[in-house]
Amino acid sequence: MTREFSYSALPMRVRFGQGSLERLPDEVVGLGLTRVLMLCSPEQEDTGRQVADALGERAAGVLPEARMHVPIEVATRARDLARELGADGCVAVGGGSAVGLGKAIALEHGLPVIAVPTTYAGSEMTPVWGLTEGGAKRTGRDPRVLPVSVLYDPELTLTLPAGLSATSGMNAIAHAVEGLYAPDASPIVSLMAEDGARSLAAALPAVVADGSDLDARAEAQYGAWLCGAVLGATTMSLHHKLCHTLGGTLDLPHAQTHTVVLPHALAYNAPAAPDAVAALSRALGGTDDPARALWELAGRLGAPRSLAELGMAEADIDRIADLAAADPYANPRPVTRNGIAALLHDAWRGSAPI
Ligand code: NAD
Repeated sequence: MTREFSYSALPMRVRFGQGSLERLPDEVVGLGLTRVLMLCSPEQEDTGRQVADALGERAAGVLPEARMHVPIEVATRARDLARELGADGCVAVGGGSAVGLGKAIALEHGLPVIAVPTTYAGSEMTPVWGLTEGGAKRTGRDPRVLPVSVLYDPELTLTLPAGLSATSGMNAIAHAVEGLYAPDASPIVSLMAEDGARSLAAALPAVVADGSDLDARAEAQYGAWLCGAVLGATTMSLHHKLCHTLGGTLDLPHAQTHTVVLPHALAYNAPAAPDAVAALSRALGGTDDPARALWELAGRLGAPRSLAELGMAEADIDRIADLAAADPYANPRPVTRNGIAALLHDAWRGSAPI
């Protein structure tokens, strides 16, 4: 068999390890930044202010207003504030929402973003931005929004609640699953995906059992880094399309929706993606049914397994199936409207994937 692939490495620096947050001042100085704007969610304002204090006069201000899916009003406030303060860079401390706000500023002003992730969502490794206006989320790829530097410090994840740790980790595994059968998959990305899924699946039960287990936290964050890199390097398929549609149309919560849909999306694609199934079987401990193994993992983690639990009405299944089948996109198995509707019925009920 001849190999054929294309792979572009993304230009960024990653520092990983306990205490790496202490390297932030060096990182800011090394990048030649003198006035950075600190971004975080309201719930993590204390963390954001502590990090800003550690930067001293190089911190120009703190904006604790990051929100899921980057509402345009918040993006506009952040962009205006960055201009008023004369900021020459941003530091985003938090999950995908804080990083997403940094990306919104980078998209307009071209300011470099340093990311300090505290969930497993993986946005910090991607050149993908999102903005929500009038109930509709637009996304795009732009190299300007890729963080220039990412500091992974597992200590910052110790406070991530068990429920969000479980669903955020499953969200990360979803990047690995779809990266393995992506149209632009490549050998190095597949290695990252397999090891990312392996480390998250191994670490999450320990993280959920004891959120202060630093070794388990570090292993989960290592997996999240790899899975985020896979997301940044490949084109996502049916699973991400469905979650995007469910989140955008019904306002279902991001990480929980990924957790519920993933086993069913994988079960749908498995017959057309034997190499991905083989890699995931190895990653998930030698199972011959990785979709079922992911469904069982979600159960062991106490994570939601049905869309009904997330508040979706059964009557919405047809509308979502119509929307998700409307535009063509890459997927290993042909996407049919009825196939999606059947998948959604299973996910809505929370039954085992078939
Ligand atoms: P989030 O950033 O919204 O965080 C969820 C909540 O958890 C927030 O209240 C936050 O303050 C809190 N939190 C985060 N880390 C914490 C910690 N360590 N301790 C205590 N509380 C903590 O959620 P998320 O799942 O990380 O990100 C979801 C968003 O990111 C969505 O909008 C999604 O579309 C986007 N996303 C984008 C990409 C991309 O490549 N562009 C990738 C993944 C996710």
